[in-house]
Amino acid sequence: MKIGVARETAHGEARVALVPDALAKLTGAGHEVLVEAGAGTGALIPDSAFEAAGANIVKTEDLYAQSEVVLRVQKPSADEAKRLRSGQAVIGLLQPLLDPKLMQTLATAGVTAISLDAIPRTLSRSQTMDALSSQANVGGYKAVMLAANTFGRYFPLLTTAAGTAKPANVLILGIGVAGLQAIGTARRLGAVVKAYDVRPETREQAESLGAQFVTLKTQIDATGAGGYARELTAEERASQQAELNEVIGAMDVVITTAQVPGRKPPVLVTAEAVAKMKPGSVIVDMAASALGGNCELSKAGETVVTDNLVTVLAPENLPASMPIGSSQFYARNISALLLQLIADGHPNLDPADEIAGPVTIAHAGEIRSDAVKKLLEPAEAKA
Ligand code: NAD
Repeated sequence: MKIGVARETAHGEARVALVPDALAKLTGAGHEVLVEAGAGTGALIPDSAFEAAGANIVKTEDLYAQSEVVLRVQKPSADEAKRLRSGQAVIGLLQPLLDPKLMQTLATAGVTAISLDAIPRTLSRSQTMDALSSQANVGGYKAVMLAANTFGRYFPLLTTAAGTAKPANVLILGIGVAGLQAIGTARRLGAVVKAYDVRPETREQAESLGAQFVTLKTQIDATGAGGYARELTAEERASQQAELNEVIGAMDVVITTAQVPGRKPPVLVTAEAVAKMKPGSVIVDMAASALGGNCELSKAGETVVTDNLVTVLAPENLPASMPIGSSQFYARNISALLLQLIADGHPNLDPADEIAGPVTIAHAGEIRSDAVKKLLEPAEAKA
């Protein structure tokens, strides 16, 4: 099979879907790998490194003309989508729920769309393919690096002849994959770490990494389907907020990672809470996007310094800011999925398969994902 690796063109994207180290498994299984010229530049991988690992470097038009499957990180742009053709497959973090119309365009063109963000994450055989986790891991680590770099004091307790530096008080809101990595990283830097989540099972996980779990008087159990959190009711939100405001005011650094699938991220750090923080405090809002964020004051992609001198960072794509490490993990995820799907030499997209079923968003001219179908319904009804 001819496997193509596309050059990412989304703004600020530096990752690449495959790295030279991951090539051997694919070529060893008898596949040919084509790499679009310059695909690895953002991740500091020269074309020559791909060539040395057995790939052919090709021009953009040749990549789309010759590949049977195109591997990428982000969804294709409108121009790239036009280059894809019937019978070809595209695999990436396609975010089908955020852009269902693109899925329809691909389906109409006969392109098979396979999305890594639809992998069932709790299956043991899908662990190596879980790109959401591998990228959230990078994000959680980098959020702490960013916070430490912005914070004007030490993270660890430091006793020197010139005096003693108190350790930084760090609060992690949301204890999923990114939150757990952020706890571990902040602890390794010597900070005193507190953490909070609406899923009670996260207490033990946070404590095992050395964080103190924040227990609110208002007991909320918002465990939802598949290990994710459900959206809180208005009453739960109000009582959670009042108590969290007090905790946040005493913190030097707050890192927020809270998400609810398919919904706007919950606001956990209000403007009122930020106003209570000391000058020099830092907030890193990992949930910030055009949809909003966990901090009421964050502006996606920007840094805001408030009147009381609190810095609010809202990085949009943290994994892309560490492209060598994140691409290495991503390459492992995407090649594991690909090899799983073409185990017998042909793509096997059996809808009943517990991995192939959910990841195949569009195939043979049809949208397969029920969730995407639902999002497309009103538009079709209007037409
Ligand atoms: P996510 O990105 O969807 O959310 C991050 C965290 O924010 C979650 O822990 C969530 O509970 C929390 N959150 C949501 N609303 C909140 C609120 N109002 N206040 C405080 N916290 C709030 O989560 P994720 O990192 O993608 O992980 C989702 C789930 O998938 C977790 O249960 C994780 O353990 C599970 N998972 C399991 C495996 C596995 O079984 N091997 C692998 C990966 C992930």
